[in-house]
Amino acid sequence: MTEHELLAEFTRLGALKQGHFQLTSGLHSRQYVQCAAVFEYPAHAEKIAAELVKKLPQDIDTVIAPAIGGISLGYEVARALHCHFIFAEREKGRMALRRGFTLHPQEKILVVEDVVTTGGSVQEILELGRKHDCKVQAVAALVDRSGGRVDFHVPFISLLKLDIETFVPEDCPLCRADEPLTQPGSKGKLD
Ligand code: ZN
Repeated sequence: MTEHELLAEFTRLGALKQGHFQLTSGLHSRQYVQCAAVFEYPAHAEKIAAELVKKLPQDIDTVIAPAIGGISLGYEVARALHCHFIFAEREKGRMALRRGFTLHPQEKILVVEDVVTTGGSVQEILELGRKHDCKVQAVAALVDRSGGRVDFHVPFISLLKLDIETFVPEDCPLCRADEPLTQPGSKGKLD
């Protein structure tokens, strides 16, 4: 799929919305990303994950994802790569491996996240990988919202790069135009 087709598909699936949104940060925007919409139907998830997998290194032992956002995508990517899948989750505020999940020295890992904004969760998983002496092959995401401001020191591959403009409410053109304001329910991926 071309970038144009992907944008159309994300919009069709409800993962990319247009309107007037209040983000958790309090800022306003005219676009909103909710990647969870891609995973409401496994057939959609499989198709989108396949597009990402085409761009990824194929020699991977383990896909590791940060909970919760990365889990569905990580699972789909691991299925397509026929490899092992685990996820990390917050324990006392830090990303940790629980549930008997482990990483081994020299294991080739791929970190998978749905949306990268500040990249904080991904950085923590990279640290976990280093701590276990793994070989981090790449970081992959559906959407890169970082605006090129993150550097993971490994290849970073995304399906879509979205630069979503935000406004302070006092200086929001959509507020001035009296566009109805929506507050999307969940946290909208601020890492
Ligand atoms: Zn506004």
